[in-house]
Amino acid sequence: MTFTPPTTPPADPEGESDAKADLLLPAPPAEQVLEGMAISRGIAIGTVYRHDSETVSVPEYRIAANRVPAEIQRFVDAVERTVWQVEQLRAKARDIKGPAGEEMGYLLEAYGQMLHGSRLVRGVIARVDDERLNAEAALRREIAEIARGFAAMEDSYLSARADDIRDIGHRLLRNLTGAPHRPFSVLPRRAVICADELTPADTALLDPDHVAGIATVLGGAESHTAIMARSLGLPAVLGVGDIMAEARPGATVIVDGGQGKVIVNPSPKTLALYRKKRADYLRQRRALARLRDVPAVTRDGSRIILQANVELPSEVASVLDSGAEGIGLLRSEFLYMNRPDIPGEDEQYTVLRDLVRAMEGRPVTIRTLDLGGDKLAGGLNIHPGPNPALGLRAVRLSLSHPELLRTQMRAILRVSAHGPVRILVPMVATVEEIRLVQAARDEAAETLRRRGVAIADPPPPLGVMIEVPGAALGADALAWHADFFSIGTNDLTQYTLAIDRADEAVAHLYNPLHPAVLRLIQFSAEAALRARIPVSLCGEVAGDPRFTALLTGLGIRDLSMSATNVAVVKQRVRTMDLMAATRRARVIMDQSDSARIVQLLDSFNAGEE
Ligand code: PEP
Ligand code: MG
Repeated sequence: MTFTPPTTPPADPEGESDAKADLLLPAPPAEQVLEGMAISRGIAIGTVYRHDSETVSVPEYRIAANRVPAEIQRFVDAVERTVWQVEQLRAKARDIKGPAGEEMGYLLEAYGQMLHGSRLVRGVIARVDDERLNAEAALRREIAEIARGFAAMEDSYLSARADDIRDIGHRLLRNLTGAPHRPFSVLPRRAVICADELTPADTALLDPDHVAGIATVLGGAESHTAIMARSLGLPAVLGVGDIMAEARPGATVIVDGGQGKVIVNPSPKTLALYRKKRADYLRQRRALARLRDVPAVTRDGSRIILQANVELPSEVASVLDSGAEGIGLLRSEFLYMNRPDIPGEDEQYTVLRDLVRAMEGRPVTIRTLDLGGDKLAGGLNIHPGPNPALGLRAVRLSLSHPELLRTQMRAILRVSAHGPVRILVPMVATVEEIRLVQAARDEAAETLRRRGVAIADPPPPLGVMIEVPGAALGADALAWHADFFSIGTNDLTQYTLAIDRADEAVAHLYNPLHPAVLRLIQFSAEAALRARIPVSLCGEVAGDPRFTALLTGLGIRDLSMSATNVAVVKQRVRTMDLMAATRRARVIMDQSDSARIVQLLDSFNAGEE
């Protein structure tokens, strides 16, 4: 969709315009305070930008007769995914009080009906079958024809249904294509993105220089969208049930990412209060920034390595600014997102080389492709399967597409000639998987050497992400085959507790302090220490100072986190005594009750022994 300018100019949210000009504006609509999950700290004061369904351009081509059943199946899968999304939105709408919730409920019910054996669905299948059209083109033609029929009706209520059919059609089209789209090219100043849902690929397109914050209806606290918002330093609140009902384009809005509050149409008094809170927050950040060049050493003299997680190359400047000692996790998925094709070896090499060079000799841990689950790529037609989180994703996907892995390995090996690089493999569950990836690395190294291409000698170490409970329980065996471990607590928590990390409906049950999760972290760390291989931790808890004493007390001395959190974790390290933290970690590991664990951790952090 394109940005629709508001009919009246929005108040200058930051209060930089002449105050007298405010007197000329009409009385503002009533202030609405909405609650959601506190995802990414900071306060945004900006202008609503609604990220609704949008126009997706699709190719049109004829398919062979024997491709018809597969094409119809592809469309049916997209319908199922859309039905699921609409159901999620309906569940949220039920929590919205008053006429707005009622209206939204009716609309979503109508959307649901449009997806169940409706004229739209039947029409598309018939076009694929009879006209041998690809599903996207068949869908586009069918939407256009039905919408034309509605628009021609005299009755204004019925003619407005043309918009509904287009809206649901666009949703279907996006699910069908996974099409690259550039939805944020026209933004108002200091835009606050309000959406039902932002995918990680959408979030990757946000430019923090133009976007002030994020508020969405759907999304879990450890979803990749949440992680990206933190990395970009954008204040974000997810799980805000009524944001799309309340936020009109161009309205002034405040996002308080630390408190999980979104305030639409704030009163002048609220605006003044939040301008002050924002100034205080920025002052605190500036004070923390002074820690950039001091070492991360505990009070009793132990060095803790603090590195940064990177989702996008544009973050490198903030990584260097943060004082991080290296990149502990480079999520290479960005190379594959928001494009219709797959990047080749040279392109991957160039992007990664520039990134490694920019780190000026600091180590960079490049993770092989971790697509699948909530991270999809246009150029790879990954079938999400009945349960995407347990499906063909991460290392499984790489091993089932050998050319994909070979290309990535060759690119990374070439980059290793430009700086210290390590290779990290996601979602490993078996020793066999790590052996196969090692073989791919060695074969790629051999090919490059034969061609006379420079690579590091010896080739970069190959590490395993411990993020599947089976890998943690089998950590001793994996430690014999891996050069290092990196513990991924985001997925480890998801899989141990069977809680979808991206689903806000179960977000309150997602708990990295569950004794079972802690036991698996301890198991993995001890296995690495026994095998004398390095172990780091790169899940979101690494960036939360509340966890620093516990993780270091369990023997982990290398933490990798969003660059925005390096300073606050360093501050915690410098006020902490590692011997005392180790003693407290031992007591915590004897507990079976999460509530008691929280109490023991919080009291330690508060300085009460
Ligand atoms: C993790 O699972 O903890 C992790 C760091 O990887 P990601 O968040 O990319 O799945
Ligand atoms: Mg993971």
